[in-house]
Amino acid sequence: MMSCLEAATGAEMVRARVPIFMFHHVAPDGPSAPRSPLVVRSSKLREIAEWFLRRGYESITVRELASLLRAGDAASLRRKFALTFDDGAKSCFEHAYPVLSEIGCTATFYVLTSCIGGSSNWRNKMRSFEMMSAEELLELFGQGFEIGSHGRNHVDLTALTVDEIDAQMVESRATLSSMIGAEVSTFAYPYGLFDARVVKAVRDAGYIAACSVLRGAAQDSQHTFALKRIMVTEGTSRLRLRYFMSGLLDFEYRREFESAVLGRQ
Ligand SMILES: [Zn+2]
Repeated sequence: MMSCLEAATGAEMVRARVPIFMFHHVAPDGPSAPRSPLVVRSSKLREIAEWFLRRGYESITVRELASLLRAGDAASLRRKFALTFDDGAKSCFEHAYPVLSEIGCTATFYVLTSCIGGSSNWRNKMRSFEMMSAEELLELFGQGFEIGSHGRNHVDLTALTVDEIDAQMVESRATLSSMIGAEVSTFAYPYGLFDARVVKAVRDAGYIAACSVLRGAAQDSQHTFALKRIMVTEGTSRLRLRYFMSGLLDFEYRREFESAVLGRQ
């Protein structure tokens, strides 16, 4: 099946297998298992990154990935992988940042601008968590990490009016850009949810790419607003990494991707 975009643009599509791994919270190493599938120990982050580094892969930010796809530079995308952290939890600054610095990996942090320096404001109080501060985000940016937007609020964008979607895209980008003193180029849809209106809004707001939660490792230049990701859990084994990189993951989920992107970009 051909996506509507392949017919629409006529430009040659560039494809590359660049897995983008998705994390939310990172806990210190310890004997007790994390309480939520959204939490992984820092040892899991290290294990995954080192699996790629040992094989000669290099980490890139989502911004770099999108720029290379858009430029049609498939050669520069060989042996690249990306790490993303959604929501902007302080646990990532405390437990992911030191590991990434030590092993020399970059990453992209997707931040919600309504709760920088405070607590998460979209879950009940019992399950809320601390968010990174502006100073911490600035430090990450200064160290070469990408700061991307996850919106102003953690909402299902497809349930909003066009004006509300625009506000989420534009305001969060402006807030983060003025905070770091640089352009903010990529977005991650809260809950991974998007539709044609959301894609139009993210594009119109000036972003060059957006991460979904559609599963796969193969990316292409005509779907930079529906980049695929692989969620990491404590159960993500080295065997699974081989499977992700074999192309079988994209084969298994090709229908999920096709039905999600048809008519949306
Ligand atoms: Zn999120």
